[in-house]
Order: sequence, then C-alpha cells, then structure tokens
Amino acid sequence: MDYKSEMKTLRETLSEAGYRYYVLDDPTMEDYEYDRLLRRLEELEAAHPEEITPDSPTQRVGGAALESFTQVTHPVPLESLQDVFSPEEVEEFARRMEEALGTVAYSIEPKVDGLSVALEYRDGVFVQGATRGDGRVGEDVTENLRTIKSIPITLPDRLPRLIVRGEVFMPKNVFHKLNRQREENGEALFANPRNAAAGSLRQLDPKVCAKRLLDIRVFNLQLAEGRTFASHSETLEYIASQGFRTIPHKVLDRVEDVNAEIVRLGDSREELPFDMDGAVVKVNSLSERAAVGSTAKCPRWAIAYKYPPEQKPSRVLEIVVQVGRTGVLTPKVVVEPVRLAGTTVTNATLHNQDFIEEKDIRVGDTVVLQKAGEIIPEVVEVLRDLRPENTEPYRFPKLCPVCGAPVVRDEDGAAIRCTGAECPAQLHRNLTHFASRDAMDIDGVGPAVIKQLIDKELVKTPADLYFLTADQLADLERMGKKSARNAVDAIAASKDRGLERLLYALGIRQVGQKAGKILAAHFGSFDALAQATEEELTAIDDVGGITAAYIRKWLENPQSKHLISRLKEACVSMEAARQSAGEQFKGMTFVLTGALEKFTRDEAAALIEARGGKASGSVSKKTTYVVAGENAGSKLRKAGELGIPVLTEDEFAAMLAE
Ligand code: AMP
Repeated sequence: MDYKSEMKTLRETLSEAGYRYYVLDDPTMEDYEYDRLLRRLEELEAAHPEEITPDSPTQRVGGAALESFTQVTHPVPLESLQDVFSPEEVEEFARRMEEALGTVAYSIEPKVDGLSVALEYRDGVFVQGATRGDGRVGEDVTENLRTIKSIPITLPDRLPRLIVRGEVFMPKNVFHKLNRQREENGEALFANPRNAAAGSLRQLDPKVCAKRLLDIRVFNLQLAEGRTFASHSETLEYIASQGFRTIPHKVLDRVEDVNAEIVRLGDSREELPFDMDGAVVKVNSLSERAAVGSTAKCPRWAIAYKYPPEQKPSRVLEIVVQVGRTGVLTPKVVVEPVRLAGTTVTNATLHNQDFIEEKDIRVGDTVVLQKAGEIIPEVVEVLRDLRPENTEPYRFPKLCPVCGAPVVRDEDGAAIRCTGAECPAQLHRNLTHFASRDAMDIDGVGPAVIKQLIDKELVKTPADLYFLTADQLADLERMGKKSARNAVDAIAASKDRGLERLLYALGIRQVGQKAGKILAAHFGSFDALAQATEEELTAIDDVGGITAAYIRKWLENPQSKHLISRLKEACVSMEAARQSAGEQFKGMTFVLTGALEKFTRDEAAALIEARGGKASGSVSKKTTYVVAGENAGSKLRKAGELGIPVLTEDEFAAMLAE
C-alpha cells in the first residue's frame, strides 16, 4: 500500500475506533492497538506533512496557544431556562401548555451542570465552537473544543450548515483525579466539576485543555440547512446519527409520568458521569414550540426542575481544626456516617470560627447536613431540641494544632492563621515559595521535588535545603546524578541572593518583593532589622502599621528565630546586596522646591528615580533631602522646622555626579 492510502486507512480506522470509544462508550479496539496505529499515523504525517488533513485524529491539539479569545455572535441565540422547584409547578407548566396546544408530548432530560456551547459545521466540517456568553455573543473556543474526543470533526452528512448546542462537562472521575493531582502539586483545588470544566475550556493553550479530558452531551439542534424535522426527539436521533453524544431523554405525555421520571432521574444521578443540576422538561413537537414561542430570555415551551439539595441529620462526634497549606485554620465536624446525595458523609465543613459561633455548634449536637453544588457537605442548622445536657460551647484554639505557634486573625478579619515559620502543615507551600524564581531562585527544586523531600523527611524547614547532599537528592524519583548535582549547586548559589530576596522568601505576611527591597535598603542587614521596634518600622516610607506589626510578631516567634539561626549556620547571606549605581538613592526621598537652573523639575525627578530614589511633592518626617532652588518658599520653611537637610542645586548636582 502506498503511504497516501495507508494514511487514509489509518485516519478512518482511528476515527471509527475513537467514535466507538468516546461517543458510544463501546470500545472495539484495544487501547494498545489504538496507540500503536496512532503512532504510525504520526510517523507518516511527520514524513509527509503535506498530507495532514484537518480531520486527522492527530489534529485535535493542533492550534498554538492564543493571546485571547475572540467574540462570536450566535446566529441562533442560546436561551436560558425558567426554573421550577416543585411537582406542582411542573403541573402548572403542563396545564399552560395543554391549554394552548391540546395533548402534548414532553421530552424529559437531565440538566447537565457544565457549560453551554454551540458547535458549527460547514459542509460537514467542524469550523467553530463558542461558549454561550450572554446567549447572543460568546467566545470562540474552537481549538479547545477540538480537543474533546466526543466532538466529531467531520460529519457523514455534509449539510451546508449545521449548528448544535450541548453542555461540556468534566466527568466526575476525571475531576476527582485532577483534584488529587493538584493537591499533590500544591495547587489550588477546583470546587466542583463545573468550575474545573469552565477553567479548562477557557485555557488559552489547547494542550492544557486536552489534558483535562472534557466530554459533551449535545441537547439541541440549533440549525440544519436543508433538513426539516417534526420533533425534538427526531433531531436528537439525527444528531446521534452524525456521531455526537446526545443527551439521554424520554418522551412522555402524562404529567404524572413526567413527575415520576423527574424523581427517577434524580435517584439515578449517582450513576451519571456528569453532575446534574436539575431535569429539563421540553415540549417535544417543534411546531408546537414555535406556536408558544419565547419570552425575552427563555423559551415558554420548557422548564428546568431544580432538585432541592438532599438534607440529612447526623450527630457531631468531634470538632477538629485543620491547618491548610496557607496556614489558615479551618474547622470541620466529624459526624456519624450518613448517606447523602450518593456518598457516605463522615464530616462537613464549618468554614470558620464565626460560623461555629453563630450557629453555636457543639459536640453532641444533631446537625442537618446538605451537599449543595460543592463537593464538601455543609452544616445547615443545629436541631436544638435534640441537644443533650451538659454540652459546652466550642472554643476555637489559640495555638496552631499542628505546630503550636500562636494563631492570628487576618487583617481583613476573615481567616485565622498559624504564625509558625516552620509549621509542617505549611511546609510545602513555604518551601515552594522560598525556592521560587522571584525569591531564592533555586533552579531544579520545584513543587514535585519538594514534595518528595518532605515525604522522605529530608527537610523540615526551608533551611534544611542547604544541608542536603547530592546523594540524598539523587535518590529521589526522576532525579539523576547530574540533576542532583545541579540542584545542589543551585541551592548553594542561592545563598548569595541577598537580604531583599531573603526577606521576601521567608514569607512573612505582608512582606512582598517591594517591602523586601525597602527593608533591605533601609536596614542593610537582617540583624539590624531584627533590632527595629514597631515604631521604627512604621516610620519607614511605604511600611504601614499592619506590616510593621506582622514583621515584629514574626521576628519574635521562636520558630522564626530557629529558622534564621539555621539559615545563618548554612551561611545564607543576611546582608543587603551591595548597592549598584542604579541604587545610589535607594530608600531616599527628595523634595524639589524653588526654581532650578540646571534641570526642569521633571528631569530632576527622573534622575532621582533612575538612582532608585523617590521624588515627592511635600515635606514630611520621611523626607531625606530638600533640594532648594531660587525663591524657595513654604517647603524650605517646613524642612527647617522638621530639621530635614537642605541641598543647594549645586550640591544636588554633585551628588548625582558621584
Ligand atoms: P440556566 O442557565 O440556569 O437558566 O439553565 C439553562 C442552561 O442549562 C442552558 O444554558 C444549558 O447550558 C443547560 N442545560 C444542561 N442540560 C440541558 C438540557 N438537557 N437541555 C437544555 N439545557 C440544558
């Protein structure tokens, strides 16, 4: 067989196998065989790039990363749905429809909790996919949608134009796996599959989206040039015949049966691969739909029934406080195991201290639990009548349950946080930050290496990095002798980053890169900073009272002292980096007043800033120098009152020349 026919056969075989696997869920080919054929096609395509066709199964992740998404106007608007919350409201809807239309057949479908998209095909080829946006204008996410294996790239019927609408979602098992991975890598978790799907579909790089293994259920035919249909169920059948995965649906004409089907669907939610946030009831006949029409936002011929979140009571066995990676203390209740919305629940979040106090939740109480949208159940209320005697109000810990350091409330009052610089709960995050590019910039020591170092108990504080040997590092997974050597060198090189980066790397609350620079310039060494009182810190330009208080608290904490002494032992530089020419005026503030002869005000200000200083318009205690030209007035007087040194223009020029 020549290579052209072989490529054609491979494309067809792989597309068919992909369709059986991803759309029909009925694989006919071993994964191994599929991968082998795919690799063969890739090889041939690499050798004959001119023969690559857009419908090749290798082209799903073809596009390069985008700068941003462009807007798309939907030819047929993507409407919303009217919500109802009870069987009575479903009956009312049916009454309205039957008054207008006589006997009506309804289609009942799960409402997939994902993101609505429109997929457009021209002459049977997928050309554009867009998010719903506001229903009229959405975003072009074609490249990301192309990565979804259950979306066909070409269709057997080559209609001039076809648009379908469906719901993209992240399968529940994929979601749980993704979150487990993110947890291991110290990344923020997605709250639910919907957020994860939304985040994935809005990735500018289709390669990222491809890894998220999204799926789709198509639930509507928006437009099909050259075809007519009588009913919704007919359109779904047609769509399925074109290779799409369609929404499961049932057509019923008695409202009692509709309500029974809604209940049945609700009970089956556990078996569905997607989260369901309701059931949709639609008039099945397309001419009847046209007869009742739409309001401004929603069709009149459909409703979405929203299931109430399932609630169950259970008894509080214990209240425990966990310390997150960022040091935030979150309380939860451990309850007697109870079956809720498809899983066995043994604990529920309590959010924060205020939540416990407001609801007065106590050990021994019976509480009502529910799962609403989020994965973690929550406490809805305390059943006070069931409270046993002799219970006590819960007292939130004053010390971190993991490391024993004092806890403090954040400046904005919401979270309570551990202040331990060596707290094991925060170690992964602290170390990752410590080694990151803008901090100590330790190449080759990223989150995955750090995780192994912690798991093997090779490091307990950031300072321990400096005592690692190349042999210890070489023992880690995916770390050869050479990369271990490089990592040791990178760790050693980071000892000389200087005080400003070190201060940032230590992760003191409120001390970012900018504050690190200001403090390093002002004090010159860690020991000088450690001596500073809160008042002295506050007196520095750009250091506020809250920051000063955090710094002082940090310095006084025994864990911080231990960390610093270990860093010193490792010979990590505690001094500000020597000032370069560009930092001659670092930390200094100049006020210009009167008429200058040699420069305009703007030029002088630019010269000061180029040397790392600041030019300010008013004199205060924080002013370093006042530069006074001819006829200087009130600012010069103020400088005199505050005892700020005054420079003539010539003296200033001489300083610039230094
Ligand atoms: P809402 O935006 O809450 O008014 O609900 C309407 C949304 O439900 C639509 O935008 C669709 O994205 C989504 N949806 C999920 N499954 C279906 C379905 N089977 N039929 C219609 N809409 C659905």
